[in-house]
Amino acid sequence: MNQNLKIAIQKSGRLSEDSISLLRKCGIRFDNGFGKLKSVARNFPLEIFFLRDDDIPQYVEDKVADIGIVGENILAEEKRAIEIIKSLGFGKCRLALAVPKSFTYDSIKDLGGKKIATSYPKILSDFLARHSVTAEIHTISGSVEIAPSIGLADAVCDLVSSGSTLFSNGLREVETVMQSEAALVARPNLDAPQQLILDKLTFRLTAVKAAEQNKYILLNAPDRSLEEIIKILPGIKSPTVMPLAEKGWSSVHSVIAENDFWEVIETLKDKGAEGILVLSIDQMIG
Ligand code: ATP
Ligand code: ZN
Repeated sequence: MNQNLKIAIQKSGRLSEDSISLLRKCGIRFDNGFGKLKSVARNFPLEIFFLRDDDIPQYVEDKVADIGIVGENILAEEKRAIEIIKSLGFGKCRLALAVPKSFTYDSIKDLGGKKIATSYPKILSDFLARHSVTAEIHTISGSVEIAPSIGLADAVCDLVSSGSTLFSNGLREVETVMQSEAALVARPNLDAPQQLILDKLTFRLTAVKAAEQNKYILLNAPDRSLEEIIKILPGIKSPTVMPLAEKGWSSVHSVIAENDFWEVIETLKDKGAEGILVLSIDQMIG
């Protein structure tokens, strides 16, 4: 019996690089899929399948793969008997409605009776139904953004990240239909050995993701403001404080969330902190 866990990731596209680098950050070594369908990890019981992203949910449901990395947008469009284990924080985008700049748009009601081109007909029709709008949905598989300029549709519903593709096609974003990011999915009821490997992998993924969201910070603090500085830097349990050779000063080590980073640094400086060093963390185990 094959004891490896099989993971399906995108072969080449927006999710490929981040999927590969995430597995590598989990300490898993393998050759990438350039021109290959499959790769076997050298130091972890994992086989990596390189596939088109749209096919991943079906392969997982059909047991060709046990788990996969795929955009939530695809999962929402094609409901399958698979479970979302974890959102992964990359491949962030939104499915948005956009209209040509000449289109007078005040509210979603203005889309009533219009023709909308999209690759996500189910998500769009649910969204329109929720807003009691009836429109004609025209399903196309690619280059949705050019549909209005060639007279194929009045509006589009397409994936957007920066919005520059819409802009350069003379379109204006008017509604967000859904937010999406890459997610780790699994088929339900994995065999016990596979489940064990998945648990190990998710443990590593959690450590890598936590590390990405935090920074290790070291600084010198005057003892007079030590108490206040410790309050700002709670750390995992509490910060490490060590006396410096110079009297009246201490070295403080702690972990801070990336999101609060600049605000915390400014407050620390106001409290007299000096020699602030900020380092990235590779893994963080709670
Ligand atoms: P494939 O050949 O694998 O079918 P594709 O062309 O369908 O590739 P990509 O454009 O590489 O797919 O997008 C893959 C996923 O990346 C999308 O399903 C979505 O989850 C995510 N994504 C992030 N930003 C964007 C964006 N600006 N446009 C499209 N997809 C995006
Ligand atoms: Zn695709």
